[in-house]
Amino acid sequence: MSARSLCLSQFGGLAAGQADEQKRYFREKRLYTLQIESTNVCMQGCVYCYAGSTPTDTSGLDSPEIRALLHDAAGLGVRAIDWLGGDPLERPDWHELLTEARSLGLINNVWTSGLPLRDQDVARKVADATEGGFVSVHVDSVFPETYARLHRNGSAKRIADIIAGVDNMLAAGKPRDELFNCITYTSLQPPWDAIETMRWWLKEKGMRTCLTLFNPSGPGADRRSLEPGPEEVRLVFRERDRLNYGDAEPSISTMDVDKFYCGTMATVTFAGDVTPCSVIREGVGNIRVTPFDRIVAEHLGVLIHAPLHDERSMPAPCDSCRHNAHCWGCRANAYHSGGDANALDPKCWIIREVRSSAS
Ligand code: SF4
Ligand code: SF4
Repeated sequence: MSARSLCLSQFGGLAAGQADEQKRYFREKRLYTLQIESTNVCMQGCVYCYAGSTPTDTSGLDSPEIRALLHDAAGLGVRAIDWLGGDPLERPDWHELLTEARSLGLINNVWTSGLPLRDQDVARKVADATEGGFVSVHVDSVFPETYARLHRNGSAKRIADIIAGVDNMLAAGKPRDELFNCITYTSLQPPWDAIETMRWWLKEKGMRTCLTLFNPSGPGADRRSLEPGPEEVRLVFRERDRLNYGDAEPSISTMDVDKFYCGTMATVTFAGDVTPCSVIREGVGNIRVTPFDRIVAEHLGVLIHAPLHDERSMPAPCDSCRHNAHCWGCRANAYHSGGDANALDPKCWIIREVRSSAS
């Protein structure tokens, strides 16, 4: 498997040169990607949203704060900005911000609901601003009844609008392997439904799925009932592995990205908190109090899970797992189950196999 196909199959959007560079950053324990939650406005209304996004709440980072962040990131050698929300394309100044990021040599990756892409002009601008980067849309289910359960005011029209947005991106020249659909997997969705949704995107649009496991985080913290059970997790994530990588494996277990992404990344939430991941809402500092580069200098090890970068230091049985060259389990799962983001991911079904083969 080539570097490009391995990387594409594990997460996506990275050309071979970027994947190699990201691995070098991992070895050097540096930040490759900065996720910026640029707004908490979003029209999609996911019932489990970690950011508590609404169509109208515009509290969040302002333009000068984000521009300062971009300059700090470029100064630290960060290579990519992942624009998160809310929906980053709901910001009136989204295009100016992405253009500024590009002028600083940063790659733009956009995580959108997909709804703004219905506008062909928006789709064209996004395709241009994300050259060399990826765009992820968000349709948890292509089945309208399930979609309606997962989203306030969810309807078949919303699904059709996002699909039309993807078609606009393709028409604007965005390569299929730089487009993804994102699913946040919850107990509100039966395994077959998530599996058929992943298959639909691959068959109909040639797009792979970024599969995220719901965690009780942020405003969703009191919704533990949305956590799927272990067998549901195994069925859906195993099929994600098969669809994205083929039968030859590898697996990234319950992770939505490989450890090279996860271990070279930090998030700034729409409230300014700096965290290791958007699913972990508790920060090590806030950019409204302390400059971002100072926070990174003081807390880099926490942000990138530095103690786990050496496979021999992973908790057992990850230290002896055949998948550990690219997997270390979802750190958000570990954090939300026991409070330690560097502990074993209890949602990984492969742990049982590794233990039984060792005994
Ligand atoms: S045991 Fe650890 S390294 Fe192996 S698949 Fe599970 S989380 Fe990944
Ligand atoms: S901790 Fe989990 S949710 Fe966060 S980036 Fe890593 S794999 Fe994704």
